[in-house]
Amino acid sequence: MSSVLTFAFGFPRLGERRQYKTLLEGYWSGSVDEEGLLQGMAALREERLREYRSMDLIPSNELSLYDPMLDTAVMVGALPQRIGPYDGLSSYFALARGKQALELTKWFNTNYHYLVPELEQPNFRLSQNFPLEDVRFYRQRGVETVPTLIGPYTFLRLSKRSHSSDGTPRITPLSDEEFHTFGSALVPVYVEILESLRSEGVALAVLHEPALALDVPNTHWELVAQWYGELSRRGLPLWVLCYYDSVSDFRRYCELPVAGIGLDFVSNSENWEALQRFGFPREKALIAGIVNGRQVWRSDLEELLRFVESLTRFADNVVLAPSCPLWHLPITTTVESRLPEGLRERLAFARERIEELWLLKAAWEGEPSALQRVKEQSALVRQPFARNEQVRQRLAALKESDFHRSPPAAERRALQRKLLHLPVLPTTTIGSFPQTAEIRRLRAQYRRGELSAEEYDAAIQQHIHHAIAIQEELGLDVLVHGEFERSDMVEYFAERLEGFATTEHGWVLSYGSRVYRPPIIYGDVWRPQPMTVRDITYAQSLTRKPVKGMLTGPVTMLLWSYWCPDTPAEELAYEIALALADEVRDLEAAGIRIIQIDEPAFREGAPLKRRHWDEYFRWATRAFRLCHARARLETQIHTHMCYSEFNDILPYIAQLDFDVLSIEGSRSKGEIVDSFSQLPPGSLHVGVGVYDVHSPAVPSPEEVEAILQRVLSVLPPEAVWVNPDCGLKTRKWDEVIPALHNMVTAARRVAQRLEYHTTQQDRS
Ligand code: GLN
Ligand code: ZN
Repeated sequence: MSSVLTFAFGFPRLGERRQYKTLLEGYWSGSVDEEGLLQGMAALREERLREYRSMDLIPSNELSLYDPMLDTAVMVGALPQRIGPYDGLSSYFALARGKQALELTKWFNTNYHYLVPELEQPNFRLSQNFPLEDVRFYRQRGVETVPTLIGPYTFLRLSKRSHSSDGTPRITPLSDEEFHTFGSALVPVYVEILESLRSEGVALAVLHEPALALDVPNTHWELVAQWYGELSRRGLPLWVLCYYDSVSDFRRYCELPVAGIGLDFVSNSENWEALQRFGFPREKALIAGIVNGRQVWRSDLEELLRFVESLTRFADNVVLAPSCPLWHLPITTTVESRLPEGLRERLAFARERIEELWLLKAAWEGEPSALQRVKEQSALVRQPFARNEQVRQRLAALKESDFHRSPPAAERRALQRKLLHLPVLPTTTIGSFPQTAEIRRLRAQYRRGELSAEEYDAAIQQHIHHAIAIQEELGLDVLVHGEFERSDMVEYFAERLEGFATTEHGWVLSYGSRVYRPPIIYGDVWRPQPMTVRDITYAQSLTRKPVKGMLTGPVTMLLWSYWCPDTPAEELAYEIALALADEVRDLEAAGIRIIQIDEPAFREGAPLKRRHWDEYFRWATRAFRLCHARARLETQIHTHMCYSEFNDILPYIAQLDFDVLSIEGSRSKGEIVDSFSQLPPGSLHVGVGVYDVHSPAVPSPEEVEAILQRVLSVLPPEAVWVNPDCGLKTRKWDEVIPALHNMVTAARRVAQRLEYHTTQQDRS
């Protein structure tokens, strides 16, 4: 019989009481000193031993002080010159946050953000041996661990090259040539680290290579094979893990000269199909990612046991593991006391995933009580849960025409323009206004029961009143109510939709010390009553200018939540869309003329491999269109997206068939508009962001004008709107007011010049 071992990795670093966040923020604010920080982190490292104790192998080098990509850059000495000589914590955090920080970007197709290393020269050196330090830390506590590192390919693939030779720094992805030169310099540093681990008596090291699940060109595979040849020649056995999708070239991956190959069998069935087709090198360990590291529904363990059985026909050593690192999950379900009846026992967060691995192994070895639990859990998860027949019927009755709005956008916009009395270059904002300490206090008081619902609502209305007055004063053309009632754009709607649960403690790191609580979609989604109508109509009652209704779109609602994988993502997105379509109808009936449906996560959902894009964007665009296909001709539908790469998905964006798009653009100084030239001129009406909402700096009218001119060099004036990059909730009023003032001033100046030119032309 084959041997079966267990190995879990990537347990959340946050700590059960969010100690990680408290420590870091304490250190940054000066209330915790360096020693306090390091002691607190040491306690968190020890805590991890308890989490992993039921596993056969225990990983180390997992508790980053901010981000594992940054750690890797520090480890190999890949630091930009601007921070000067590396002096430990202060340089580390200077790279992580503040003015000199590295760029923050989405980590693969997840909602975690990593720091993008900037590579200047192809020279690396071992500057801090984190893996060795951590091995020693645990050894002092009597525990042998398996050090884990981000592998050289993933490190380079996710890094950027910073060229500053010509004076102005340019940041670009590495070219093929650079992969070669930088790789040749990087691999010796990895060799040095692995050798130090081997001399320390370490028996095995793990290299994370999720970038091998992207589209990996041949030239890269050749380098990867060469690099791993060098790494494994040093005699320390290595395992390579690739996850978040199937590996891009199954055969070349399995041929890497390493002791163990990790395969994600959860993201989709491609690895399993390839395994059946091409077989597996028996002598290598198969690290089988079989419990879901990204979703929270408990596994059907009986089915998994059969799957393990079939895997053992291919490999002599099978290692049961999560599909990917566990840090995409909250810590444990046991602390949740307010979930809907029957839900908690159906959920697995990180700790429960480890328990599943342990149970599977015990059951595999024939332990009767484990076999019994496996059976019970499968029976439970196979029962349908929180189904709603009416919703299902509504879904089944959908016709193709329910996804298409008519007449075409050009006709709709002509009418809307007339009815809305908008000037040339209309100005607006993205939705939220500053969430001041006072608003957070109100929310806390309401939660604690110190304010009644009426008192709370009245206080929120006062803030809406204030925001409308300010916008009138500033002379904005399309107003917003300010989103003061929302702590989070997803959680707010999740709390109001059936089929969504929200958690009390289900925090997940988004980056650094920033956390959020993804809701859980546990059944069919429907809307018991209107969600936004009262606040929006109140705002509209205060002004003659149009106030935008603000909704979070179906794709973002889905992607920023967990869902039960039994229901296809596509169906859930349609269910959410139907609920939003009802909201659109109610807003219209209440006299709202413009409705914005935000989709900031639209790009992030794109699969890692291009060949899967059409399928994802097919349902994602249909879900969005379902929200507004029945909207009246005169209702103007806006959408908003931000902080992603849009160039390559514009054709999909165009299929959303909205009337107006607002998009972030200030970081690129409006350059993003160039990509719009791929579309028929004027076919999209767009507000390119002219104001960076992440910075307290107030843009001058001239800076805004420059971006507008850039935009107008590509788009016809009637297609251009003026707005900030994103919502203003993290800013202060005394930054927002002058910034919007300058934005409106700039828009008017440019509009005047345009009008002058047109009248001149008309005359001649
Ligand atoms: N309407 C939201 C806001 O203004 C949009 C937020 C986002 O794009 N992430 O805050
Ligand atoms: Zn945004």
